[in-house]
Amino acid sequence: MQNSNYPVINKNLCTLVGLEKLYPYCLVSDLRLNEKPIAGVFIKSEGIIHLKAELSPQGLLAAYLHEVGHAIAAKSGLEYTPDADAHNEYFAVLVAVMYRRVKVLDMLKIYDFCDTEKGQSFYVDAGILPSDETLIRRFEYIIQTSSKLANKPLTIEQIAKKLWEEEVLDLWNTATPKKAKRISINWEDLALGAFLSLWGSAAVACTVWISMNWR
Ligand SMILES: [Zn+2]
Repeated sequence: MQNSNYPVINKNLCTLVGLEKLYPYCLVSDLRLNEKPIAGVFIKSEGIIHLKAELSPQGLLAAYLHEVGHAIAAKSGLEYTPDADAHNEYFAVLVAVMYRRVKVLDMLKIYDFCDTEKGQSFYVDAGILPSDETLIRRFEYIIQTSSKLANKPLTIEQIAKKLWEEEVLDLWNTATPKKAKRISINWEDLALGAFLSLWGSAAVACTVWISMNWR
């Protein structure tokens, strides 16, 4: 591992970022999902983040915080919105606040907020993206909101709770019954088997972060 000025993943990073705990992770050589090289993935059933061992210090930091965002979003109701799966604008606010606090906001990617309601980001490969207007609206929201929140004395977990209570809950309350039904399925405490049968490989892949550039 080369020397760098980027914080390493330890308790001190938690203090810098404002995390209530160090989310467990392991490094995996040549990390892949469905044979595709990936930078990181949050294995929801185990609560463990897998990171590609060969990432640069900057890539490792950014990938870890992105996956921590998934771990927190999964517990706070931000995992899905009526309009987007895992990589929605509220998840991306969490990531952007974390990136701001360790001064790597430039690592924020369109990937972080480009999910549609139909699927996860690996649909990017098939060209399924929200409209330009939606991407611009989300980006503006993420930059403005993360700017306001990054300097407040709030942990990322507290920010997630705040976003849920003040924004996302309303979205679900006003969502069409069809969409509301969708989230009600995800909220149930499903056994892993049932979860997998609903989502197939997406149960894992929804939290994956593909980053060919950071190898
Ligand atoms: Zn992700």
